[in-house]
Amino acid sequence: MIKKLLQRVFNPGKQKSGKKPKGISQQNAKVIPRSTHGIDRKLLSTAALKTTEGLQKAGFEAYVVGGAVRDLLLKRRPKDFDVATNATPEQVNRVFRRSRIIGRRFRLVHVIFGDETVEVSTFRGSHLADDDNARTAESGRILRDNVFGNQEEDAVRRDFTANALYYDPATEEVLDFHNGVADIKAGVLRMIGDPATRYREDPVRMLRAIRLSAKLGLKLDAATETPIPKMADLLKDVPESRLFDEMLKLFLSGHAMESARELRRHGLHHGLLPLLDVVLEQPMGERFVNLALQNTDDRVLADKPVSPGFLFATLLWHEVLAAWKKYQEEGHRPIPALHMAMTEVSDIQAEKLAIHKRYSTTMREIWGLQPRFEQRAGKRPYALIEHPRFRAAYDFLLLRCESGELPAEIGQWWSDFAHADGEMRAAMLLPDTEPKKRRRRRRSRSSGGPDTGPGQAA
Ligand code: ATP
Ligand code: MG
Repeated sequence: MIKKLLQRVFNPGKQKSGKKPKGISQQNAKVIPRSTHGIDRKLLSTAALKTTEGLQKAGFEAYVVGGAVRDLLLKRRPKDFDVATNATPEQVNRVFRRSRIIGRRFRLVHVIFGDETVEVSTFRGSHLADDDNARTAESGRILRDNVFGNQEEDAVRRDFTANALYYDPATEEVLDFHNGVADIKAGVLRMIGDPATRYREDPVRMLRAIRLSAKLGLKLDAATETPIPKMADLLKDVPESRLFDEMLKLFLSGHAMESARELRRHGLHHGLLPLLDVVLEQPMGERFVNLALQNTDDRVLADKPVSPGFLFATLLWHEVLAAWKKYQEEGHRPIPALHMAMTEVSDIQAEKLAIHKRYSTTMREIWGLQPRFEQRAGKRPYALIEHPRFRAAYDFLLLRCESGELPAEIGQWWSDFAHADGEMRAAMLLPDTEPKKRRRRRRSRSSGGPDTGPGQAA
């Protein structure tokens, strides 16, 4: 039994009878059986299983690959599943009715099952091949990566050893070309190949190194870590939208605080990552931003939804506050002044940070609702609580209270009001004439219908 097992580990070419002979591409892989890697097949999503099964039935090779295998080995629940195959995107597309080919820089197929999408990529070959499908910039950065190859080549071009593992749900074996399983067991995140070359090919890998090591609790291997500060400048060449996507992943990883700290420690900020500069260079809003990141981390780790719009609203809030103050000092009334401030900050910052429109809309809604929390008389609180963005705006309010910007009492009042029943709510309302505890005065109540909160004005 043990002998057989060893034979399989060390002679992956000779595999169980009855199985399709595999290509030469696997000769250099360790084949790690279920008993060693311990991955429970039941933890795979149905969609991932259906995808590999579908492809295998059609005569192709198909494996769950990348982050999902790594996460399963670390006993974590993968957030999504990627599949690698020797079928071309067109072939994959033909196997699954509900699928579509996407991407240019890197073509792949989205296979859809209900509300789950599995990303299927064809094994990629060396980007060094000199033709139209693989292009590198003078700096060595890869611009296009569409040369297909075999599985072994596919493994080499992945970033970390821990990310280059292939799991076949049919055999329950893991194919390991770069000692990824051993690295994971030793708690190490190691770049495949020469780290400096790999960072030159794709500088975003530096950010991935920081993010994944923080998120997974893996230590960066010394050779992987050392070149980072020296090569940080290469991030300047990366298109903003890609940097933005990567930073968003980082902030929503559940380890935003630690990642931000580590980015700074590795010299990966200051002009390179506008979004991070916003986080780290806020003497005024530091406490608020730290609370916001901590809050985001807590939510992610508790499996609660987090919204990027909310996060950006927090990151930019102190700029809004400053502009709001400025406009009021220039003689504008509070609500129009707030809207002017919102426009100013979102026009300048959203562009600089490449914040997507759909996020900046949420951001503005959250900001715009803030003054309405100061209105605790009449029917206005009832209207606010029914607002589709109430929840987000209320969470935001709580952060403002927690950071000391507003009295804690306001946040508490809204928590109580939200949980109270009809009679209790009515009893909680402040009399219309009550002098406000807040310094920022609201307008006299002589005008406007009962439901027209100031947040909707202007
Ligand atoms: P996450 O848990 O954040 O999804 P991930 O490792 O799965 O982490 P993805 O962006 O989903 O990250 O990428 C899937 C796989 O593609 C990775 O595991 C890795 O094998 C490969 N990959 C992703 N980005 C790169 C890159 N910049 N360079 C090389 N390989 C990459
Ligand atoms: Mg992934």
